[in-house]
Amino acid sequence: MATRVVVLGAGFGGLELSTMLSEALGDHVDVTLIDKNDAFVFGYSKLDVMFGRATPDEVLLAYRDIAKPGVRFLQETITAIDPEARRVTTDAGVHEADVLVVALGADYDLDATPGLAEGGHEFYSVPGAVEVGELLPTFSQGRAIVGVCGAPFKCPPAPSEAALLLHDYLSARGVRDDCEISFVIPFESPVPPSPDTSRALVAAFAERGIEFVPGHRVSSLDPARGVAVLDDDSELPYDLFLGVPKHRAPDVVAASGLAGEDGYVPVNPKTLETRFPGVYAVGDVSTIGVPKAGVFAEGAARVVAESLIARLRSDEQPEAYDGLGSCYIEFGAGLVGRVDVDFLSGPKPTGTFHEPSDALVAEKDHFGSTRTARWFSR
Ligand SMILES: Cc1cc2nc3c(=O)[nH]c(=O)nc-3n(C[C@H](O)[C@H](O)[C@H](O)COP(=O)(O)OP(=O)(O)OC[C@H]3O[C@@H](n4cnc5c(N)ncnc54)[C@H](O)[C@@H]3O)c2cc1C
Repeated sequence: MATRVVVLGAGFGGLELSTMLSEALGDHVDVTLIDKNDAFVFGYSKLDVMFGRATPDEVLLAYRDIAKPGVRFLQETITAIDPEARRVTTDAGVHEADVLVVALGADYDLDATPGLAEGGHEFYSVPGAVEVGELLPTFSQGRAIVGVCGAPFKCPPAPSEAALLLHDYLSARGVRDDCEISFVIPFESPVPPSPDTSRALVAAFAERGIEFVPGHRVSSLDPARGVAVLDDDSELPYDLFLGVPKHRAPDVVAASGLAGEDGYVPVNPKTLETRFPGVYAVGDVSTIGVPKAGVFAEGAARVVAESLIARLRSDEQPEAYDGLGSCYIEFGAGLVGRVDVDFLSGPKPTGTFHEPSDALVAEKDHFGSTRTARWFSR
């Protein structure tokens, strides 16, 4: 009987893992890929939806298009994980696995920031981005805050991109002079591992008159008074609050016995193995000292896939996970920069900055289209 690999979550990690197993092993492996949603969306596409550059339909990639030998996609909600027995319960039944890979990402916890749900708008989910996209055309004067409510959060450059794209959006509508933009982030710089990237972003904020408030998170909103309260109790007035909500591990993971104190899953950073034999965790749901970003989820998934393929072929085990990743950063004015980050090889993370250019716009497009083609056979 073919090895039964059950992959929980069809995001960056789950899709890459399933694709690699299918490409290498075809019908000699039995992959069950489970997700509660009917479609995948690249994180950065939420910015496109928010600023009216794309409709949700244009960015949603339907799981029904997955047609891969050895892979079966099931749209089910996972309600329990038993890592000891490698057994998964969903709203539709029970799945037994020889190998279990948890790739369930991170969830948002709006209630952890009082006032956010009533008085602000998150743009990190598809519905949130759609809502902001409907609201933005009505915002023509006053102060907008792009604010981060807690770390860790997905894709550390994304809120910087949102602030820069908001500037472009308001400028194109001819209302930028009637609006102020403030950007609040809990780090001391926009992209801490790369001083060059951070300097370029801070310069871009300054050129555009975006107020940069580093080293603070937004701890609550007081919609009645129209103020955002920061973690040192200082206040910033706002008319429009666009927030990155606090993140938390999915409840089903926190309840599974896999989780560490913070709810996320501790793994061996070299192999992505949990403390349970045959159970792996990749991507945002795991803690290995890399940021919560798709490229890192994908890199970790590759190592797990290579290891399983090697095992099934009785080959040598792959190199350890390297913690390398390249992130594209929208700088506004139609340009994209890139930072190549290395989180694990040295004593501290480092990053190399590549100046915004048209060539990197094309490279980012290629990044998306190649994954769409491989994962969804398009
Ligand atoms: C605005 C924004 C911009 C971003 N830009 C970038 C970027 O440019 N580059 C980059 O690398 N990353 C970017 N990211 C981050 C990236 O989207 C995530 O880090 C990445 O998706 C993580 O991959 P993952 O596989 O760990 O989890 P996810 O891709 O989040 O996948 C997890 C899956 O698990 C499913 N799931 C969760 N719970 C259950 C359950 N109980 N039952 C069934 N299914 C469940 C979810 O539906 C989801 O499909 C961005 C994120 C945002 C919000």
